[in-house]
Amino acid sequence: MNSTETWFAERLQERGVALSPLQLQQFQTYYELLVEWNEKMNLTGITEREAVYEKHFYDSVSLSFFLNMNETSSIADIGSGAGFPSLPLKICFPHLKVTIVDSLNKRIQFLQHVVERLGLQDVFCVHGRAEDISRLAAHRDRYDLVTARAVARLSGLNELCLPFVRRGGVFASMKGADPAEEVQESKRSLSELKAKLVDIHHLKLPFEQSDRHIIVINKLAETPAKYPRKAGLPLKQPIV
Ligand code: SAM
Repeated sequence: MNSTETWFAERLQERGVALSPLQLQQFQTYYELLVEWNEKMNLTGITEREAVYEKHFYDSVSLSFFLNMNETSSIADIGSGAGFPSLPLKICFPHLKVTIVDSLNKRIQFLQHVVERLGLQDVFCVHGRAEDISRLAAHRDRYDLVTARAVARLSGLNELCLPFVRRGGVFASMKGADPAEEVQESKRSLSELKAKLVDIHHLKLPFEQSDRHIIVINKLAETPAKYPRKAGLPLKQPIV
């Protein structure tokens, strides 16, 4: 193990996430593929090993510090980009059934390649806009947990993500610095989409010490048929 991997394994161990040699190897292969493919396409601005392990891998897994993954079966990651947060979560919690939705096909091809190289089972990479995919019966009102990191402001994200969540399930939005203003602005979209904010968790990245927030939203009832609106509208004209 190199020093970054040792650091990463220790930080996760402190949070109750124990990684086997196979799981550490999967993270290493993921890192190598990310850097290799990033030369051909835009996947991430962060490529230094230490930074990827902290700001992408650790940050992604931090969702499991607050939400019990052992009680979660299905998860959908909306606007996953290079696979965050769902692929690090899948590596740590192999029982998860993961659906990834992204509107950029090149990123979906990258993710499909990573899934094959890492030998991950039950990961489905779907190319399309969230607004269209959540209209399909196979994806609507279905998932225990839906998540999105760095995709849009919460008022717009609610409309992209909540239609995927099963009634009683959770949408967890991963944010950086203090999201108070976004939360304030998202009140109308929550009531329109039959959902309720139940928690805002805070953490600091262990080395860099920057702030992260996880907004936890419960879905109280099925999404009304009129949502989401036409593709593009939820982010262009969010419900406010
Ligand atoms: N979640 C990743 C992360 O934290 O690194 C990627 C964030 S990247 C800034 C946003 C991603 O959302 C992009 O890959 C983009 O293609 C995708 N995206 C934007 N709007 C979308 C939509 N309406 N439906 C599906 N994916 C979308």
